Amino acid sequence: MNRVAAELEQLRKELEECKTCPLAESSPRVIFGEGDPNSPMVIVGEGPGEREEMEGRPFVGRAGQLLDRLLASAQLSRKELWITNVLKRRASKLVGGRVKNRLPRANELAYYKEYLDRELKIISPKLILCLGNLSANVLIHRNFRMTQEHGQWFSGLSGKKLMATYHPAYILRLEGTEYDEVLREAMQDFATAAAEYRALRRSG
Ligand code: URA
Repeated sequence: MNRVAAELEQLRKELEECKTCPLAESSPRVIFGEGDPNSPMVIVGEGPGEREEMEGRPFVGRAGQLLDRLLASAQLSRKELWITNVLKRRASKLVGGRVKNRLPRANELAYYKEYLDRELKIISPKLILCLGNLSANVLIHRNFRMTQEHGQWFSGLSGKKLMATYHPAYILRLEGTEYDEVLREAMQDFATAAAEYRALRRSG
């Protein structure tokens, strides 16, 4: 195991053992990032849902299947990237006796942002693709407007490049021509990110 993988493993353990995690009571499992920890490109989603909690891996439900389609459209594979989430446990609420996903509260977001910062510091990617508003708000800027700003490059610390695109779960809620159009825009954003990623790989 190289240094990066070992430090990530340590971070995962810390998350699993932490007693003060604000979501630990309602969510039994930490869903950590996965893929190539030495990749120059990281994808950051929002947080795990029901399927992810069951399987213990990020993006394995319906949104994950669409993510796989978007990756394939840009000739990218999960194995060559690091895929993670802002939240490492599921944020949920009971609605009519059923457990549903919910947006995180401010204290939950602040707690996981610290871990995300540490995770990204360990990996030190050159390119970050944010999926959805939550991730873009946390990593790019607070007032991120997806319709106006998706697909644009932003500069981060240490020369990092960041971009955001539509979250696959959002795309799945659309219908008809709106679905087609937003999916096409997301594919274009993935293609732009993939071109930059390949240029980085070539330049070593
Ligand atoms: N949505 C996310 O943002 N992350 C996952 O892991 C699954 C669905």
